[in-house]
Amino acid sequence: MPQTTPQLPTIRLENLTLLMQSWGVPGYRAKQVLQWRNRGILDPAMMLNIPESLRERLSSSLICEPLKLVQRQCSTDGTRKYLFMLTSGRLKGKMVESVYIPEEKRGTVCISSQVGCVLDCPFCHTGTQDFEGNLTGSEIVAQVLAVKQDILKEPLIPELKASVTHVVYMGMGEPLANEEGVHESLSSLTDPDGPKLSKRRITLSTSGLVPQIDRLGEIASVNLAISLHAAENRLRDTLVPINRKYPLQELRRCLNRYSLGKQRHITLEYVMLTGINDRPEDVDLIAGFVNRDRERVNLISFNTYPGSSYTGSSMQHMNEFAKQLISKGIRATVRRSRGQDIMAACGQLKAENRDLEEK
Ligand code: SF4
Repeated sequence: MPQTTPQLPTIRLENLTLLMQSWGVPGYRAKQVLQWRNRGILDPAMMLNIPESLRERLSSSLICEPLKLVQRQCSTDGTRKYLFMLTSGRLKGKMVESVYIPEEKRGTVCISSQVGCVLDCPFCHTGTQDFEGNLTGSEIVAQVLAVKQDILKEPLIPELKASVTHVVYMGMGEPLANEEGVHESLSSLTDPDGPKLSKRRITLSTSGLVPQIDRLGEIASVNLAISLHAAENRLRDTLVPINRKYPLQELRRCLNRYSLGKQRHITLEYVMLTGINDRPEDVDLIAGFVNRDRERVNLISFNTYPGSSYTGSSMQHMNEFAKQLISKGIRATVRRSRGQDIMAACGQLKAENRDLEEK
């Protein structure tokens, strides 16, 4: 099907209504279809209150299911990791990962925005994989919907939230290197006739593409997370190579102008690598960079993967590092690891199933 074929995950109510009216179908049917979609049901055959002839028309006229579930891993703590294959378009046959992280009061989906990544951060497993292309808005939103459907079909342990309340763009790829797909997906996820997520419940993580962060602030102003990983240019040039283009001083000015609502803050992510960025002087460097009124630091343990030359700092060292940051007036936390029994590095599930990808 050509790329212009309407996509069910992102189609707007007004456009679906017009399309259906052109088929001679009353407008209220569009609302019914979107109610199914918003619950994660994308296969028209499962839309039980829709007449069979209309279900068939939907299947043949729209791209309804841009993703096919290839593999799912469930952790004992409720975390689920998914490997999806793209079913249409330029990236047909390629695969991406998503993760569902349930907690007592919230359920978060971590989504991918690209197949592979061009930015080559040397500690990142996705960065070692070939860049294949950008996901469309529909392929990004479909990850959220597919996870919704999965937890609806097979609920989690009762004490955990079995619904999607938060979305984070922290999976494979640099979201701001795919502005078109990401902006479309943000507009769709926050659409009052769509999944209706508040911007306050969406977080986009970027390695620091300055003009794109500025544009995001103008268009969507969702929560922002920055992959900092080093607070001096020499080291960050290596760990986050986009720093050579947008060095820390430029990033600093950009973060200061990013629009934040009340009670919101920017998260500075810092993956801790033994002997590389967890030295005593790194505490002072971070303290010199952070805007304490608007930012907090999230220390992340490193998930190793085959072929990686880095090792992660011990939990004891991370806790000590956090304490030192806190003593300097910085809000610092150590990210609690979830799904440890399944949670290899991002991109590893895809790497293990590479032979399933279509060339
Ligand atoms: S850390 Fe993010 S930006 Fe860097 S290579 Fe990995 S996916 Fe790309």
